[in-house]
Amino acid sequence: MAQPHSTLLTGISELVTNEDGWTAITDAALVIQDGAVAWTGPASQAPPADAVLHAGGRAVLPGFVDSHAHLVFAGERSAEFAARMAGRPYQAGGILTTVAATRAASDAALRANLRRLAAEMLGQGTTTFECKSGYGLTVGDEARGLALAAEITPEVTYLGAHVVPPEFAGDTAGYVDLVCGPMLQACAPHARWVDVFCEDGAFGADEAAAVLAAGRARGLGPRIHANQLGPGPGIQVAAQAGAAAADHCTYVSEKDLDAIVSAPLVATLLPGAEFGTRHPYPDARRLLDAGATVALATDCNPGSSFTSSMPFCIALAVRDMRMTTQEAVWAATAGGARALRRTDVGHLGVGARADLILLDAPSHAYLAYRPGVPQIAAVWQSGQRVP
Ligand SMILES: [Zn+2]
Repeated sequence: MAQPHSTLLTGISELVTNEDGWTAITDAALVIQDGAVAWTGPASQAPPADAVLHAGGRAVLPGFVDSHAHLVFAGERSAEFAARMAGRPYQAGGILTTVAATRAASDAALRANLRRLAAEMLGQGTTTFECKSGYGLTVGDEARGLALAAEITPEVTYLGAHVVPPEFAGDTAGYVDLVCGPMLQACAPHARWVDVFCEDGAFGADEAAAVLAAGRARGLGPRIHANQLGPGPGIQVAAQAGAAAADHCTYVSEKDLDAIVSAPLVATLLPGAEFGTRHPYPDARRLLDAGATVALATDCNPGSSFTSSMPFCIALAVRDMRMTTQEAVWAATAGGARALRRTDVGHLGVGARADLILLDAPSHAYLAYRPGVPQIAAVWQSGQRVP
């Protein structure tokens, strides 16, 4: 039997469209046609369609856009988490534990873990996600990770400059040469973005700038891990490199704030990392009040933030980062799309990809109001309902 040509989803208590900043329509309907949004508006004015679905007085939102995730890895670090919660501070060196496990893993094991996490994300309403390498740190292991990521998302990020691997201990310059040379050569064909962890214990300003410039010369868009564990140069490096986003932004000086607003850089906040490391949360209110574009993402990784849940990040942002419920949902959808320089996702304007979430609740606010409760009743990706 042929698929219906158009589907009318009606009986929507609140339809979040994000068409012009935060926009929501009450008592709404939406028409999906050929995988895209064809119409939105009041249910009373909905046009006829080949098939009709009733939302039953529940809310519909754009699918979440998770613009920062590290999903290509093997192993897990629950013992490290438990120790940290018992009082040991987090240091970037913990990444090397995952590097060793990832290098030792088969392609099949890495692929299975990656797909399990991607399915977990989709089930929680994430219809677009970015995925980084960064746990291989050899030419072959980084290229392998990116090739696996490219099987399931177009938003693939080369993060060879995650940490300096043990075989380059004491020779950061030598490792940066590898990252900017043969490793980039092998990885660029699989990636859209280049990223660097600019932090004490990882890479400094000049090294980070060199990595982003080399990636850019190979056609990759720059983005950065910046100002997570303390004040640092990362945000300035990002602004100078023309990066799409500066991610973490936990420690932001006045000069950094100016750079974020004027570059402009999307400030991607990753509250799962602060939750998982018991660090102070970034000051989202200050960023928003200064006019910055803010995105929320999970930073899903086995060390500092092993959550794939955008609703969890929204709840943290509202409760602990002084974002309104509207700002947090916008940041988790349209904000993520801005961070990935995508115009087809993160909103439900006419022509957008029909990526949407049916919440088992009457409004978006329930995502923060009922934290930890599964509320994703259904998900559509490019107009197809996800089983
Ligand atoms: Zn990260």
